[in-house]
Amino acid sequence: MLGLFDSTTNQVSAGRSADIVLRGGTVLTMTNHPRAAQAVAIRGDRIVWVGSETEVGDWIGRNTRVIELNGRTVMPGFIESHGHFLGLGESLMTVDLTGAADYEEVVRRVARAVKRADKGTWIIGRGWHQEKWRRPPSPHVEGYPVHDALSRISPDNPVLLTHATGHMCLANEAAMKLAGMTRATPDPEGGAILRTKDGAPTGVFRENAMGPLYTAYQQARSKMPAEQRQAERLEAIRLAGEECVRHGVTTFHDAGVGFDTVDTYRKLALENRLPLRLYVMLNAGNPELARRMKEYRTIGLGKHFLTVRAVKRMADGALGSHGAWMLEPYEDLPASTGHQTLTRRSLEETARLCLEYDYQLCVHAIGDRANREVLDVFEQAFGQSNNGRQLRWRIEHAQHLSLRDIPRFAELGIVASMQGCHATSDGPFVVTRLGPRRAREGAYAWRRLIDAGAIIANGTDVPVEPIDPLACLYASVTRKLANGVAFFPEQCMTRREALESYTTGGAYAAFEERDKGALEPGKLADLVVLSDNPLTCPTEQIPRLSVEMTLIGGQVVYQKSP
Ligand SMILES: [Zn+2]
Repeated sequence: MLGLFDSTTNQVSAGRSADIVLRGGTVLTMTNHPRAAQAVAIRGDRIVWVGSETEVGDWIGRNTRVIELNGRTVMPGFIESHGHFLGLGESLMTVDLTGAADYEEVVRRVARAVKRADKGTWIIGRGWHQEKWRRPPSPHVEGYPVHDALSRISPDNPVLLTHATGHMCLANEAAMKLAGMTRATPDPEGGAILRTKDGAPTGVFRENAMGPLYTAYQQARSKMPAEQRQAERLEAIRLAGEECVRHGVTTFHDAGVGFDTVDTYRKLALENRLPLRLYVMLNAGNPELARRMKEYRTIGLGKHFLTVRAVKRMADGALGSHGAWMLEPYEDLPASTGHQTLTRRSLEETARLCLEYDYQLCVHAIGDRANREVLDVFEQAFGQSNNGRQLRWRIEHAQHLSLRDIPRFAELGIVASMQGCHATSDGPFVVTRLGPRRAREGAYAWRRLIDAGAIIANGTDVPVEPIDPLACLYASVTRKLANGVAFFPEQCMTRREALESYTTGGAYAAFEERDKGALEPGKLADLVVLSDNPLTCPTEQIPRLSVEMTLIGGQVVYQKSP
């Protein structure tokens, strides 16, 4: 039938043609009742019709833009369920250390930036990962580099290089000096300063020990004129937006931002200038949350471009940096079970605030101990009411789980917000860190979680990993490492499940399944056109599919150049 869907009445009114029609391809609706469809019609920012090639003509009028799919596939826009939006933008503005072959290459990349920089300005880099170098640095402490080479090539410019995981940093002498880091500085609670045999800091700081370095950098930034800082932030948002839509991402769950960043997002949303839809988790301490979260709760601001109704906390660190909080010691660092970065009391208080102000609580937990603690706190907060399914609280990463905790996700109604690509990029050192049993039973245990009834939302944790949904989908269905070996392939998702984790799963994890995640009348017209069908193409083709076009709210925001 011909008509216009009215989202306020849930009715289709007859007689008006569509603004945009996509036709002649495969439509992956991602609805519960999949049926063959070849065309989609859009009016305004919503989908009004999905159906067959024989009926689509009814929707085409004089002013309708017709996009010929020519056999390509259209599906719901990808939902990146855990990333760092400004971090992505900033990573495109700083020294990129991902893919460096060894520590020497890291130093060379930094040296190039030092040459271009004014004397005394900070050199910021991101993405180094010692496990991904072809050989260990020399000298090294626990496998991590020592600052000397960096300090030699940059005696006057402070250098601060964030680890790929974000849970560790490497600083040179000048940066440590500004941060007041000396041999006498003690290790803080929930963090570690790596030291040489004679007790001097190596320049590598783990978890809470990173604080003074970033504070020193922020202090230097705060001396910049406010307009310059804001201009940099807007540039980061612009670059991040471009990178997202180029990869078919139409909604981004921003995993932990401060109130001032939300102020910028709000302003842009109201001016219809956000490049894609953001679902924001606030990251702040309890006193500040208590004071401000009521006022900041926002749903669907600026034509559904901005929602702020979640809080992010961090229960531990990351596996790559030996910061994940484990039930038993690390196989390759037997003196340590990692780091608890948040006290139980503090997390309980955050949970209480989230219940009071109706926020979703999203807690970063990588190690099996951290996951258990968070599940315990959630369960206790839900209490007798057993309202987990309504609250949809989330564990971010849920990376290493004890077998007995896996069923608790489904039982308590907790969303597992996981990253397919972490399994394949971390895979090579998981067994080293955890030993074979823990790696087999509970590392990135998607299959076990799904079979137990849990909902998974997928993502990349960008800029930890590149924001490439197709690479992440491929990792999710193959768990294939760079060397071609599959990492515990019995935990693979099916293709359908992987696509769900990037569409309906992400929508559910943000209470947005009414508006997003599937192609059907009434939903927002957020969609992506792919060169081929990711459900049926040869597996090895999945990461090579190309994003041909991205639409958000019925607007073409990206089109691949021919
Ligand atoms: Zn993250």
